[in-house]
Amino acid sequence: MQLQAQDPSIMAEVARLLAGRTRDIRLKGELRRLFQERSWPRTAKVIRAWMTWVALLDVLTLGLNAILLPKVIVLSMLAPACILPPAALATAFVWRKPRAIGLQRASIIAGLFFILLSVALVGVSAGGEFHERHLNIMLFVAITAIIIFSIPLTWTVTVAAMALGLYLFFQLLNPSLETGSAVAAALFFASGIIATVVARRTMTILAQKGFLLELRDRSRVAELADANARLERLARTDPLTGIANRRWMMETLNHLWSAGMDSRGCAMLMCDIDEFKKLNDHLGHAEGDRCLVKVAGIIQSSVKRDRDHVARYGGEEFLIVLPGVDEGEAICMAERIRRSVEAASLPNPASRISPYVTLSIGVATQSSEEKIISPEQLQNQADAALYLAKQAGRNRVVLHHPDRIRQ
Ligand code: GH3
Ligand code: MG
Ligand code: MG
Repeated sequence: MQLQAQDPSIMAEVARLLAGRTRDIRLKGELRRLFQERSWPRTAKVIRAWMTWVALLDVLTLGLNAILLPKVIVLSMLAPACILPPAALATAFVWRKPRAIGLQRASIIAGLFFILLSVALVGVSAGGEFHERHLNIMLFVAITAIIIFSIPLTWTVTVAAMALGLYLFFQLLNPSLETGSAVAAALFFASGIIATVVARRTMTILAQKGFLLELRDRSRVAELADANARLERLARTDPLTGIANRRWMMETLNHLWSAGMDSRGCAMLMCDIDEFKKLNDHLGHAEGDRCLVKVAGIIQSSVKRDRDHVARYGGEEFLIVLPGVDEGEAICMAERIRRSVEAASLPNPASRISPYVTLSIGVATQSSEEKIISPEQLQNQADAALYLAKQAGRNRVVLHHPDRIRQ
């Protein structure tokens, strides 16, 4: 079952109940339904097992009596003893799966009534010493049910009243007992039965408290997991631009490389805004920040595949990682990004390159045929290519090559 531990109104009720005294715990509404749903399988299992055992013991006792007792007594016990097994087994059948609450209540009360009646009637029919003995056995049977059946208090009280009523009724019919003695015995057993009802109630309250504590724990664990996820997201995000940060990119690269990268290799694009210091100096740091946000947005929206990664790598540097992309595709992508930034016409009036913001990009690729190098080495190659792009006049894309520089 899924506990609705996240529902704020339920959790407020849980907190209220746990703040009060244990003995005052009363579950109502949705909380009560959740508790019943939670405890039903165990309750039903206990009821089914008890019913089966009682039916089995009834048959075994009858068999034993047939061996040990005179035939006439055994015959008189036979008919009333036959009431018990069908009543017990029918109740066990009802409790095989969750049913309407009214049916559950009716089955328990009617089932127990016939079971207790059967035990009492066996003694009444046999007469003599068996009369009182079986009434005592009947009370014992009722007490075991009261103790182990985790059912609502009103049902338990009904079962207790039924057992005492049957006891008193048949004791009053007992020819070997005065009325006064019958009433006195009934009162004596009533005190015992009341004590078991109280014990049952205490056990139910403790079970409910355990359930409330479990709900609270689950809610706290969920809150913690949520807070952790938020922290994790924050730790991986660049606060200014909202895209991933360098830390996240390093983790991603390590993960990518340890997973064997991509069978087709990988490309890295190191992007750096040209003459950004001049933009800051002339338009102010705040305008510089706005420019960074816009450039980050342009780069992010240029890489559309799920497997591509973009991060703000440093002040005005962005690193793009494209798994499964070859040299040609990487240059195309870099060109597209460079043009998009240029086309955005973000002002950089003091730049010597253009009155607008431009981007230089260094590209390095790892193909599947080449010897695999570390992500740091690939990144150094992209950095070297970026350096060359800056030297060659900025606002351009340069591909790293060991002995050839292409534009
Ligand atoms: P180049 O064309 O050689 O890349 O020149 P540049 O001016 O872009 O490079 P340089 O490394 O000289 O300057 C980078 C500037 O970026 C300096 C720094 O103040 C600025 N910067 C770094 N981080 C931020 C930031 O978060 N916000 C703003 N507004 N400026 C930043
Ligand atoms: Mg820089
Ligand atoms: Mg720069």
